[in-house]
Amino acid sequence: MTNKVLLVTGGSRGIGAATAKLAAQRGYAVVVNYAGNRDAAEAVCKSIADDGGTAVAVQGDVGVPEDIARIFAAADELGPLGGLVNNAGIIGTAEPVEQMSVDRLTRMFAVNITGSFLCAKEAIKRMSTRHGGQGGGIVNLSSAAAKLGAPNNYVDYAASKGAIDTFTVGLAQEQAEAGIRVNGVRPGIIDTDIHSSGGDPDRAQKMSSVVPMKRPGTADEVANAIMWLLSDEASYVTGTTLTVSGGRAILP
Ligand code: NAP
Repeated sequence: MTNKVLLVTGGSRGIGAATAKLAAQRGYAVVVNYAGNRDAAEAVCKSIADDGGTAVAVQGDVGVPEDIARIFAAADELGPLGGLVNNAGIIGTAEPVEQMSVDRLTRMFAVNITGSFLCAKEAIKRMSTRHGGQGGGIVNLSSAAAKLGAPNNYVDYAASKGAIDTFTVGLAQEQAEAGIRVNGVRPGIIDTDIHSSGGDPDRAQKMSSVVPMKRPGTADEVANAIMWLLSDEASYVTGTTLTVSGGRAILP
């Protein structure tokens, strides 16, 4: 029997899917949120069920506030929420800031920033000891881009992840006395579909030479960091962002 519920936004593919599966192995009942790829979300849930775990797929765009309410309502049906992974994130195709449209910027910040804030808000309502909850954990997905700036590629994405880093620092302090630890994971170059959505499917392999380990990371390697931060082993860790980059230096 599981007694903790973990909501993973963007749990249908990549880092989110790996996190959902690992969380199920650790005893969580998992809410696998997805935006449009129902088959992928159902495949994650089937894999979890085949291993004896519990998971439900819930469609919802974290860039749409009404959808967030629906995602959390579905989570409530599984049991008391114990954790949130703010993983859903988007990039755009490579272009300099001077060419970025208002629509692009609005969508980028709605999904990557406002979506993370609103999901955290819903999670806090349920987990905070100030609201009668049992406490819990939040992990926000940052990116090495937050420190590097991603010039001529996606400065908008990089800036959205910079906002997430600051969000993690501030929210952790707000919630420290309410039983909720808030941390971030800052992946470097990870081999997932996100690079295709940015118009460069081979980007992860092509970038290997800039990584000291000379390879991209895997979604599982990031999932392990996320699940450690959510675990009791990280009981005194809050307000920090853990870089998972194969040694690629991320300077302040
Ligand atoms: P990915 O392979 O592109 O998968 C994205 C996931 O997010 C999918 O499950 C997708 O759902 C979901 N999603 C996208 N937009 C959404 C929305 N508006 N609402 C709800 N779900 C949405 O991405 P990834 O590489 O695993 O990245 C996961 C996180 O890590 C992101 O925050 C990303 O910025 C961060 N990150 C990734 C890398 C990297 O190199 N991969 C590096 C640094 C940081 P559907 O399947 O339905 O489309």
